[in-house]
Amino acid sequence: VLEARDRVGGRTFTVQNKETKWVDLGGAYIGPTQNRIFRLANEYGIQTYKVNEKENLLHYVNGKSYPFRGSYPPMWNPFVIMDFNNLFRTMDKMGEEIPREAPWKAPCAEEWDKMSMQQLFDKICWTSAVRRFATLFVNVNVTSEPHEVSALWFLWYVKQCGGTMRIFSTSNGGQERKFVGGSSQISECMARELGDRVKLQSPVYSIDQMGDMVVVETLDKQTYKAKYVIVATPPGLNLKMHFNPELPPLRNQLIHRVPMGSVIKCMVYYKENFWRKQGYCGSMVIEEEGSPIGLTLDDTKPDESVPAIMGFILARKCRKLSGLTKEERLKRICEIYSKVLNSEEALHPVHYEEKNWCEEEYSGGCYTAYFPPGILTQFGKVLREPVGRLYFAGTETATEWSGYMEGAVQAGERAAREVLCAMGKIHQTQIWQTEPECVEVPVFPFHTTFWERNLPSVGGLLRFVCVSTFLSVVTTSGLIAYKKGLLPRS
Ligand SMILES: Cc1cc2nc3c(=O)[nH]c(=O)nc-3n(C[C@H](O)[C@H](O)[C@H](O)COP(=O)(O)OP(=O)(O)OC[C@H]3O[C@@H](n4cnc5c(N)ncnc54)[C@H](O)[C@@H]3O)c2cc1C
Repeated sequence: VLEARDRVGGRTFTVQNKETKWVDLGGAYIGPTQNRIFRLANEYGIQTYKVNEKENLLHYVNGKSYPFRGSYPPMWNPFVIMDFNNLFRTMDKMGEEIPREAPWKAPCAEEWDKMSMQQLFDKICWTSAVRRFATLFVNVNVTSEPHEVSALWFLWYVKQCGGTMRIFSTSNGGQERKFVGGSSQISECMARELGDRVKLQSPVYSIDQMGDMVVVETLDKQTYKAKYVIVATPPGLNLKMHFNPELPPLRNQLIHRVPMGSVIKCMVYYKENFWRKQGYCGSMVIEEEGSPIGLTLDDTKPDESVPAIMGFILARKCRKLSGLTKEERLKRICEIYSKVLNSEEALHPVHYEEKNWCEEEYSGGCYTAYFPPGILTQFGKVLREPVGRLYFAGTETATEWSGYMEGAVQAGERAAREVLCAMGKIHQTQIWQTEPECVEVPVFPFHTTFWERNLPSVGGLLRFVCVSTFLSVVTTSGLIAYKKGLLPRS
């Protein structure tokens, strides 16, 4: 295993210090249906705990905080309710038409891929409140802007995580749990098993397949020979590698076309868990352009020590605020927490940790790569297509929870089985394997109400009102005309 950094873990990064005990500055959350990562955690004896969601969540919008329960903030205006319901229902319905393993084969793939999510929102949404929330939904899930991502790709992304409820929820969703002691332990335990077969500070610089073996050279001129190689980096980072022979045309162009998202993960530590005392769990959905943070979750340790709030600076805001100093970012974060929680205590943190993933040479950004409009249908099919003796893994090549740690595990195991198959050790039908459900982390279905299923969209309602008004006018005029004898009687 050739690892560029001086540590394993990549986009997961657990730091230990006396102020925090431990803190996940990269990937952290896991939840139901992510069965492979739970299997690994079980194998290594790594415990998980539930992110605190006992008290109320808060939705901050138009300068006011509204407590709520559940996955999404409730809306009050009937038009907004209809609009919100229709948007999320439509995204899930469109997702149903997109195959997980081959989104480019969806019946409307070309049409949806030419469109950005912004264009799709402009088509579907009637109210500015829902458009604004939809923007946050894209920002939070894929650390990029709606105008940057292909509608086909984003709808596929949400679908392969289990839909709009599973991807965004804490309880029963992608953010339900964390690892006690941090997520990097998974990679660290694996590395320990492999011993000195893991070479740190070994950035791969060239991959040569001209002979009967693959020869891999690192930046410090070490060479390694292998029969097969699995490349498990984000696709765009392959631009740093020299391939001999050159990559095939589609793969060579693909790696120029899949940028990484932008995120700074920020943890603010407090003396006391004051938000819980106020009846809030620490989850805040913040819709305010001036706020650095879009979403928060409680990051207090499972034994209730080290009170902290985790917040994400996402997409455009990440780009805008990258130029500030750490202290300035902390100040702005505390100011918005103080407003949302209506608390003076929020202004007095005892410690702060942050990580800007945009500056990471061997990630290029986070959480994951995104597909701008037009790329998935043109280049998607080569994403995990082997090139000679090279096989491709990494979360971007997964078909379930791609973009997440779960996707990384699915992809790694699949690529390993592809190599086993090439060596004649397993049959082709064994390459793709489903994973049994983790008994300790049960999956509960999300039930939709009658109204969620049947409420019309704002457009549908307006059409109904127009048509029924028109029909009423025609019928009434006809009746009046008939009564006044203006119509011929038989
Ligand atoms: C802030 C943040 C929050 C996130 N939140 C979550 C979350 O809550 N839940 C979740 O499941 N996921 C989350 N993720 C995403 C998750 O961390 C990733 O999907 C996952 O870790 C990807 O694993 P990977 O093995 O595919 O890629 P990586 O972790 O990127 O591994 C690739 C490895 O390749 C190495 N490398 C790169 N170039 C070279 C080279 N030339 N030579 C040798 N080695 C090289 C890198 O150093 C790296 O170690 C988050 C990520 C971030 C940054």
